Amino acid sequence: MHVTGGYLAAGVALSAGAGVLPDIDHPDSSMALSFGFLTNSFSWLVEHVSGGHRHLTHAILGVTLFTAGALAAGRYQLTGPHATFSHLAFSWHLVPAGLFITLLYASALRALKIGGHHGDLLAMAGAAVTIYTGADLIYVTQWHIPLLGLCTALGCAIHIIGDELTHAGCPLLYPVSEHEFHVLPRPVEITTGKIAETYVIFPFLALGLAAAVWHATGHRL
Ligand SMILES: [Zn+2]
Repeated sequence: MHVTGGYLAAGVALSAGAGVLPDIDHPDSSMALSFGFLTNSFSWLVEHVSGGHRHLTHAILGVTLFTAGALAAGRYQLTGPHATFSHLAFSWHLVPAGLFITLLYASALRALKIGGHHGDLLAMAGAAVTIYTGADLIYVTQWHIPLLGLCTALGCAIHIIGDELTHAGCPLLYPVSEHEFHVLPRPVEITTGKIAETYVIFPFLALGLAAAVWHATGHRL
C-alpha cells in the first residue's frame, strides 16, 4: 500500500490493536485489561449488549460498526482546528480519535505482553504523537480511506478469520443468523493457546512477517 516510515509504524501498531479489538466482548481480553476498571466495565457492557462473547463483535455487522466508528472519529478530528506539534492546542475534536488510538495501542502492547501499565503510558504517548502528526488520517489506498479506518477493518477481519480457524467458529451474520462459520475442516481446527498456535501458526506468521519486511525493503522474493 506504499506506506512508509512513521506512517508504516502507526499502521502496524493500529492494525495490531484492531487485531484484538473484537475480543472487547470478553472481560479477560487484552483490551479489557488495558485500563483496569474503565476498560473492564466497558467490556462487561459490550458483552451484555452484543449478545455475549464471540457474537456481534465477531460478525460482519460488528466489524462494520467498529470501522464506521473509527472513520467518524477521524472525520471529527479532521473538521477541528488544525492542532499540530508546532501548535499543541487541546481540541475536543482530537478526543474520540485519541481515546480510540490509545486503546488500540495499549491493547496491542498488552497482547504482546510488553510493559504492563508502563505499556499503557507508552500507548498514550504514541496516540498523542499520532493525532498531532495526523498520521492516522493519511490516505493509504486509491479509494482515499484514512489509515485508522483501514487498519481497524483489517485488524478486526484478521481476528475473525483467526477465530474461524478454531473449534468455535464465528457467527458472521449475527444477529440475523447464529450459524457459526468455520474456515478449516473439523479434524484440523485449532484450539487457541495450544500446540498448533505455538508451533504452527506462530512460525508461519513470523516467516510471513520476515518475507513482508524483505520484500518491502526492496528485495526480490
Ligand atoms: Zn475473538
